[in-house]
Amino acid sequence: MDVDDVETVAVLGAGNMGHGIAEVAALAGFDVNLRDINEEFVQNGYDQIEWSLGKLAEKDQISESDADAALDRVTPVVPVEDAVADADLVIEAVPEKMDIKKDVYAEVEESAPDHAVFASNTSSLSITELSEVTDREERFCGMHFFNPPVRMQLVEVISGAHTADETMDLVEDVAERMGKTAVRVRKDSPGFIVNRVLVPLMNEAAWLVHGGEATVASVDSTTKYDMGLPMGSFELADQVGIDVGVHVLEYMHEVLGDAYEPCPLLTEKVDNENLGKKTGTGFYDYEDGSGAEVPSDEVDEDVKHALLAVMANEVAGLIGNDVADAGDIDQAVKLGAGFPDGPAKMADAAGLDALLSTLDERHEETGAERYEAVDHLRELVEEGRGFHGDGDDAGDAVDFETIRIEREGRVGHIVLDRPHRMNTISGELLDELGVAIEELEDDDGVRAVLVTGEGERAFSAGADVQSMAGGGGDPLQAVELSRKGQSTFGKFEASDLPVVAGIDGYCLGGGMEFATCADMRVASERSELGQPEHNLGLLPGWGGTQRLRHIVGEGRAKEIIFTGDRYDAETMADYGFINELVANDELEEAAMDLAQDLAAGPPVAQRYTKRAMLAGRDDTDAGLEIEAQAFGQLMNTEDLMEGVMAFMSDEEPEFEGK
Ligand code: NAD
Repeated sequence: MDVDDVETVAVLGAGNMGHGIAEVAALAGFDVNLRDINEEFVQNGYDQIEWSLGKLAEKDQISESDADAALDRVTPVVPVEDAVADADLVIEAVPEKMDIKKDVYAEVEESAPDHAVFASNTSSLSITELSEVTDREERFCGMHFFNPPVRMQLVEVISGAHTADETMDLVEDVAERMGKTAVRVRKDSPGFIVNRVLVPLMNEAAWLVHGGEATVASVDSTTKYDMGLPMGSFELADQVGIDVGVHVLEYMHEVLGDAYEPCPLLTEKVDNENLGKKTGTGFYDYEDGSGAEVPSDEVDEDVKHALLAVMANEVAGLIGNDVADAGDIDQAVKLGAGFPDGPAKMADAAGLDALLSTLDERHEETGAERYEAVDHLRELVEEGRGFHGDGDDAGDAVDFETIRIEREGRVGHIVLDRPHRMNTISGELLDELGVAIEELEDDDGVRAVLVTGEGERAFSAGADVQSMAGGGGDPLQAVELSRKGQSTFGKFEASDLPVVAGIDGYCLGGGMEFATCADMRVASERSELGQPEHNLGLLPGWGGTQRLRHIVGEGRAKEIIFTGDRYDAETMADYGFINELVANDELEEAAMDLAQDLAAGPPVAQRYTKRAMLAGRDDTDAGLEIEAQAFGQLMNTEDLMEGVMAFMSDEEPEFEGK
């Protein structure tokens, strides 16, 4: 069976996850049977789907008719036979209890067609054990969505001991058809990838506080403002529920051993029913207090090293046991947990040898098993390697993390590739942009550059404030950061190649300053643009105060910056910022068409035109001089001859840049 043969998906359980999975399946065009144990529960799930589809339509993320069509594809049912009789794929999202799930599978096995594939959304239970209740162990795998399925991009697809490769391929294809990114988990290992990294990190944070080495404030300050994670460790525990984390830890403890013993600081909270946000208190007080207020100035290097060391050990365990490779681990944790960088990459940056020493020292001091380094980590350090290769990549093609370059004909297409963070601009992304434009300029086959953002939500929603907060508000570092953005974007403005920005979704703050440096901008109708810095008491620090006025005039530039408002794409087209406004689903094609047109233009004339216009901005005489010199130079080019001949014979010119 391949993905085109999948017509009907049965979703068992219409709770939190089940209704969300049913919604994404219906949006992807599958017929969905949504099942729960009684009318009320299943109707409740159906109502939530209706509400959520309405919200998506309200925000113009889908059309009204698509929302209606998706809802029409969902059939709420109670009898299990009716739910699965015509199912090609059964996705189970019933409560996280082995007994309940086993009963469900035994029942479903009887009514489902032989060819149907079973996929469990379990967060932690053994896929192998579940599959063994059925007669289709090879057509059984894990399909772990993240909450809420409609918004979260990641699906971990987990192989049990008996799962056939074709089953994995099929379920990955289904996930992709649902618009998700599937990451393969090659072995049925507790916590799979994301929880295997996140939950021990939360446990280690608790042990550090429990042992008196740190405070909740210093751990959260470090994780949020130094490591750049989306939340403090305790803030996250409160958010997801301390009981949820402890439950996963208990399972890991049972299967993997004492290294995963839950810290008493966590279990006490559970015993006292202080489970976090949902009960009003956890590590922070959400009822009487002000909730999670994480200080930015209690960053502690020792805490960071301990956390990174434990994280590196988990990553090494996953790789050493062939559960996943470093690239997949990084991608999964970025998409599933919103890390700005993957854990393998973060560990490489900290140095595996230093992290191994931290583990060894702590192991010697405390004897705690969680500090016992796994073999694979030791091997890598002995071989002088990192998780991502030997670090001796000089001369190899650059391996970008936050962007990617695609070449289409003579267009070098740079994609800002941080959809999980709305393509916000981190320090690393700035570095990579600087390298990318140089690489494209050095490539003789490239004659124009197109920049777009991955996904449909944003070209770029601005600076990644969190990943940049590492400077802790140091004014001198902020000056350098501003200069770095100005000069990186300036490389695009000053590039000899014509640059097109294709804007779909948010184009705000630093994202708009970047787009300002393109030569032309194409935007989808749904795009929203703006320079909101004044709302924060800041100013646009990546060239916005200078460059925007050259495009829209000083009056409009002041209006955009002083109001801090968000402008729709149509208004920005009226202001002259957007050169071409297109329907939402035509953006990629229209932007690429424009870039291809520019790539077919006369390179030498384009280069000098850009230089003359840039030089003439504040000094018209200098610009005019460049223009005159360039005009003279062009007289001697083959391109001129080509252009004139083509004009006379009414044909398209083939410019060579000579
Ligand atoms: P939930 O309690 O919100 O929903 C479970 C639903 O299953 C309930 O509506 C319940 O009535 C129904 N149910 C019980 N027995 C059933 C049966 N025999 N047939 C059909 N339905 C039945 O739970 P949830 O949060 O949606 O979690 C479901 C699964 O998804 C669990 O395995 C959980 O570990 C996993 N998961 C949860 C999250 C999360 O953040 N909540 C994230 C990823 C995975």
